[in-house]
Amino acid sequence: MSATSTEPIPGTLAESEGRLQAVIDTAVDGIVIINRRGIVEVFNPACEALFGYRADEVVGRNVAMLMPSPYREEHDGYLGNYRATGVRKIIGIGREVVGRRKDGTTFPMELSVGEAMRGDDASFVGIIRDITARKHAEAALRDREARLRAIFETLSDAVVIIDENGLIEQFSPAAQRLFGYTPEEVVGRNVAILMPSPYHERHDGYLAHYRATGEKRIIGIGRVVVARRKDGTTFPIELSVGEMRVDDRRSFIGFIRDITERQGAERRLHELQGELLHSSRLSTMGQMASALAHELNQPLTAVINYAQASRRLLGAGAGEDKLSPIIDKMVGQANRAGQIIRRLRDFLEKGETDRRLESINKVVEEATALALVGVKATGVKIRIEIAADLPRVMIDKIQIQQVVLNLVRNAVEAMEHAERRELAIITALNDDREIETAVIDSGPGLAPEVAAQLFQPFVSTKAKGMGLGLSICRTIIEAHGGRLAAGAQPDGGTAFRFTLPPGQADDDV
Ligand code: ADP
Repeated sequence: MSATSTEPIPGTLAESEGRLQAVIDTAVDGIVIINRRGIVEVFNPACEALFGYRADEVVGRNVAMLMPSPYREEHDGYLGNYRATGVRKIIGIGREVVGRRKDGTTFPMELSVGEAMRGDDASFVGIIRDITARKHAEAALRDREARLRAIFETLSDAVVIIDENGLIEQFSPAAQRLFGYTPEEVVGRNVAILMPSPYHERHDGYLAHYRATGEKRIIGIGRVVVARRKDGTTFPIELSVGEMRVDDRRSFIGFIRDITERQGAERRLHELQGELLHSSRLSTMGQMASALAHELNQPLTAVINYAQASRRLLGAGAGEDKLSPIIDKMVGQANRAGQIIRRLRDFLEKGETDRRLESINKVVEEATALALVGVKATGVKIRIEIAADLPRVMIDKIQIQQVVLNLVRNAVEAMEHAERRELAIITALNDDREIETAVIDSGPGLAPEVAAQLFQPFVSTKAKGMGLGLSICRTIIEAHGGRLAAGAQPDGGTAFRFTLPPGQADDDV
């Protein structure tokens, strides 16, 4: 083949037309050129593949054959309208339309139309892309979205999704019921509004810490924490947080279960306190306590009997010789009672304890949330004030949780009939550099008949009270090298405070 005779000469019209033809022939997109009356002039190979027509079946015919009804019938009208008014419906604008194949089937396509002028004669160039696959993908995505939305809408757990700055993105219907907020009120706001102090103030810091260090405090770990409703009341929740990444954006999804409800509360309480109650030490302690209570009955009854006998003998004018042996026996029985109590104390003090360096704040938070389970939170305002940078304490976490649990439960019970029900739980470093935890209520204060022997076993004002809680608490605290004491509040309530020595001076958190 001779280059001089067949190849167009560079720079000539023939050469540029040849190049254009090559582009049209090899384009991946379908290219259709029609004249101003809608008659097809060019139908490229990509179009043949798309529509199933050969070019010679289409060229010279009306482009409407490539459209399904009703466009098929209306297309001439569109063109006529454009010729008459110059109003463009599609030219220069990419659009999604439907194409019709030779076999009558249709497919979604993206069409962009340009107008080309050749002298006075206009023609239109249509570029066509089959978007069936994209449409399928979109439909699948919509389907997935719809499913996710249905899950989101119907899940009994509340779901709150936040962005990495803590701003609420989504708030499920269950969350609306739980917190009393509508999505309009919370979307775009900081999730901290759903938390009482001090988490309210600290949450931004937690998130920043996580962003900076990647250290997870709650993500991926279920935890019992305290939440706050729109009306300011607080309630315990079980929170699990997951992390999601969508298009390189990080969000957090929180699943929230209210654990206040009466229904099932006992069961849940049981589950949650599993760690506490099923801990072998504490259940042994519980069994031991009731066995001891039973055992104590005997010497106490004996003491009472001897005391009554002494009074009778005294009334009958008996002398020391008769009274002395009875009093000895009385002392002996009282000593036995004392031994029984000491056995309990020894058990608590010497029994295997599992001490580790812990954050008192964490222990207090968890125990408080647990203590609130089953408590009708409505009306009880809970304030938790937690000091930052407290030294860690060397404690048996379960025992100290038991102490906090007891104090909080006692406080809530004391306030049952009080008009003002406010509970404050505060951790702080006192002047002696000890870690002090206070549980302060706005109840009626200590009953005078128990105040003096509050920490003695079997001292109770409650019909079903064992009167063991505070004595066990004090024993636990003292075994940890701390002190537990109660005091009256100026407004009539009661404050229980316990101290714990710092673990290691350099081990601050
Ligand atoms: P129990 O709860 O079984 O009675 P405790 O040893 O825990 O045993 O408490 C002993 C008593 O101390 C209670 O019966 C109650 O009279 C009193 N008490 C404890 N905490 C408080 C409080 N926060 N306010 C008033 N009285 C309290």
